Amino acid sequence: GPGLEAALALIADVPDFPEPGILFKDITPLLADHSALQAVVAAIAAAGRGADGRPVVDKVLGMESRGFILGAPAALALGVGFVPVRKAGKLPRATYAVSYALEYGEATLEVHQDALRPGDRVLLVDDVLATGGTVKATVELAEKCGAEVHGVAVLMELGFLPGRETVGAVPVTALLTV
Ligand code: IMP
Repeated sequence: GPGLEAALALIADVPDFPEPGILFKDITPLLADHSALQAVVAAIAAAGRGADGRPVVDKVLGMESRGFILGAPAALALGVGFVPVRKAGKLPRATYAVSYALEYGEATLEVHQDALRPGDRVLLVDDVLATGGTVKATVELAEKCGAEVHGVAVLMELGFLPGRETVGAVPVTALLTV
């Protein structure tokens, strides 16, 4: 869409953050620019529309924490509600939980059990698809709720990692592949 390339050009490369050898992609300059933010949110929301442009999802799920920043406005653009997927221990009521392996140790994500209804179609939103562990766990959470995952939209995909293979059959939309 118009302005999307200019928006993505605002992502800053930060060498050696948070550790030596890591090239960190900093999206805060993009978020701070109204036109860029609007273009990126519109492009992410498009992953939740059918060929006629109408929304085909009932909820947007955003993964803590940058998935909140992009997912909530994408939900508003689609005219649907937003559901946070949070790290363990943050949600106050009854949750479903899924744990997955990290390079060192493991992580757990949770969603409120009543956040989705059986048969709800959902769009998953996050900033970066890396190994795919986060998305895979979130797909499992949505399925525990009885929801159907329409797709995943991310700002950036790290193309040198097997994220898409890990995610499996769920369609992935990435605005940028690095
Ligand atoms: P995955 O589970 O390995 O796919 O990692 C994706 C999650 O980790 C997302 O929630 C990202 O916010 C975060 N992440 C992983 N790698 C990076 C990176 O290089 N830059 C920014 N965030 C990252």
